[in-house]
Amino acid sequence: MKICVVTGGVGGARFLLGVKAFLGWDPTGPAPDPGPDGPADTVTAVVNTADDIRLHGLQICPDLDSCLYTLSGAADTERGWGRQGETWTVSGELAGYGAEAPWFSLGDKDIATHLVRTRMLDAGYPLSAVTAALAGRWRPGVTLLPMSDDRVETHVVVEDPDHDPADGTEPALIALHFQEWWIRHRAGLSPRSITPIGADTATPAPGVLDAIAEADIVLIAPSNPVVSVGTVLAVPGIREALRTTAAPVVGMSPLIGGRPVRGHADACLAAIGVDSTAEAVGRHYGARSSGQGGRDAAGDEVGGILDAFLIAEEDSAEIPGVQVVRAPLLMTDPNATAAMVARCLDAVDVRR
Ligand code: GDP
Ligand code: CA
Repeated sequence: MKICVVTGGVGGARFLLGVKAFLGWDPTGPAPDPGPDGPADTVTAVVNTADDIRLHGLQICPDLDSCLYTLSGAADTERGWGRQGETWTVSGELAGYGAEAPWFSLGDKDIATHLVRTRMLDAGYPLSAVTAALAGRWRPGVTLLPMSDDRVETHVVVEDPDHDPADGTEPALIALHFQEWWIRHRAGLSPRSITPIGADTATPAPGVLDAIAEADIVLIAPSNPVVSVGTVLAVPGIREALRTTAAPVVGMSPLIGGRPVRGHADACLAAIGVDSTAEAVGRHYGARSSGQGGRDAAGDEVGGILDAFLIAEEDSAEIPGVQVVRAPLLMTDPNATAAMVARCLDAVDVRR
């Protein structure tokens, strides 16, 4: 069976561990050797790249790296990001020059990944080819496709945090890179808008549209609906592929009891005028069948993407045209997450 997953970084990677467990694979190992007729099952992930950032001349792709490291067992699961057994010599030296971006720590092992990636990009290879090359070392089992080879960067417009309210002027509006807003300001500055800059002229990376069209089922991971899934959907062609694929499309809520399990999805949702409830997220994704709902970040109706939507047992939701299924949605370990995957297949009557 062919499973296609639309995903962000840490949350999405955790979900992909469960997809591998569902297929009976080692969650942190490579895919099993293919039989004489080719692989029985394949998993392809369409990964958000709008978090990407260039720092110290290095191209950093946090969501792709979270997937690479997590799915190969190299991630530091306690810290929640980066490599296990990481050291911080280079960061310490940069700080010695006052040249660190203190809000974005780069470990030594991680830096090697960014060096290889940047060297290949500078030599002219597209990000999709670079990602495939990096995966040759990590063997994540899942084919990881960047959503696009084109540069897309989420920017967050906020009021200037250094503005002095006593001086009687209106605060200036400034645009921050998503990472600066998320990490440095811990999403604490309330955003006026969140925009994936460059998405409107980006094209899907090679393989993305085919993976969606040829899948037996498409799963929308319980990733951030705005800055992970939303940015993937903002690449022209991807939403249309989800709306027209013969495969059913099933999403999952990243909110449990109206709160993100981790991170600041609520602040992102507020910026695009969507309530922090499973129902509001489901309606924002919208129904594929009726074409109802489904809104872009500007709030314009663009047609929905869902056949079914899983929400947590403590939540309730009515989403016109979408089958809503209550299920345990805490990804405590790959087996619990595999049970979520099974519920997704059941919801749309797909049999393995
Ligand atoms: P990021 O790119 O590293 O921020 O990760 P993603 O966008 O892929 O995932 C972040 C989202 O995953 C957050 O909004 C969390 O609420 C959600 N999330 C994390 N763990 C869980 C979980 O166990 N269950 C559910 N349903 N959502 C989760
Ligand atoms: Ca991310």
